[in-house]
Amino acid sequence: MKQQANLKSPIKDVNERLNSVRNYFNPLHPLFSPGFWIVNHFSGRISFHSPSSSSDEDLYQHLQSLNLAFRSSQVNHNSVAVIADGGVKKSHVATAAAHIWADNSVIKQLRVYSLNVISIEVELMAIRTGLIPAMEIDNIHDITVITDSITTARKILESKVNPLQSMFIPLAATAKTFLSKDGRNKIHFWYCPSRAEWPRHKLVDDQVKATSCAPTFPSKESHLFSKKKEYDNSLCEWQTHFANSLKKGHYFLNFEDEKEIVIKPTYAKGGSWLPIIGFSNSLCARFTRMTTGHAPIGEYRQRFFLQLPTSCPCGKAEVQTREHIVMECDRHDPSTRPCNIIINSFIHFLADNPEAFSFDNG
Ligand SMILES: [Zn+2]
Repeated sequence: MKQQANLKSPIKDVNERLNSVRNYFNPLHPLFSPGFWIVNHFSGRISFHSPSSSSDEDLYQHLQSLNLAFRSSQVNHNSVAVIADGGVKKSHVATAAAHIWADNSVIKQLRVYSLNVISIEVELMAIRTGLIPAMEIDNIHDITVITDSITTARKILESKVNPLQSMFIPLAATAKTFLSKDGRNKIHFWYCPSRAEWPRHKLVDDQVKATSCAPTFPSKESHLFSKKKEYDNSLCEWQTHFANSLKKGHYFLNFEDEKEIVIKPTYAKGGSWLPIIGFSNSLCARFTRMTTGHAPIGEYRQRFFLQLPTSCPCGKAEVQTREHIVMECDRHDPSTRPCNIIINSFIHFLADNPEAFSFDNG
């Protein structure tokens, strides 16, 4: 242990001293000059295929079409398919893998590793790892790329300067050469989510998941990784402050989500509470009153308006507390009472009892 401590400390010091953000920008690269954009010259020969909606039915239809597209890529001698996938481990080691298929067999398996990148970067690495060698195979006119990140694939047509530039430039440059050299050359991108477990994509996905590679030091971070780290640190600080601070009020009700985990504040996907409440203004207002305890109920009047009555109109509670309203009051149908602290149970209770926590509640 002593030896390990002696070894680790200088390695950590060197890592911290040399670790800095990788320079990813090259705004003056000719690919980004107006007139040279791929989208202006070849957009008709690059296509993207994804389901028309997020429903299971549309995904099923899409996978049927993907099967046909893959089969056709394997019977034509001028076609290949590239199946790409990437993943980031908790150790921040990212693995990008790709299989190149021709004539119904894998002709090339490729894998690259990186450290301190985010998922969109590793997905782009995976596409690049498979697509560049595929474009360099002789007499290939048609390439079908199968990926679970079609958003990343679409960035190939983007001409604006972005933090993925240094990864994107070699791919875009090779794509431009490939598309320029023959008018028949085409690239088709197909979406295939990992959850669909499409067998050939699963082969690559399993390979990515099975890969274990130790991080090396010193290591730099991508710009996006560094940004994400700052976001994560701020979010963690915010959540800790929220959990410990009394500023949210003594009566604040800590709900749990469907996985029975206490809901914490977040900036992502519209926040933690509002998207669950939905679009009803009155429901949102009653939910807020119930959650904070700032509501037209006896418990609140007892604190702030001592001259006003505190009892519940049902006659069974001297002080009309929030708990009484939700769990005991006869004025509400007992079958609507929440049986846990999960947020949805309380929202259903409010929806079923429109007078609860409203100013019309006599
Ligand atoms: Zn009552």
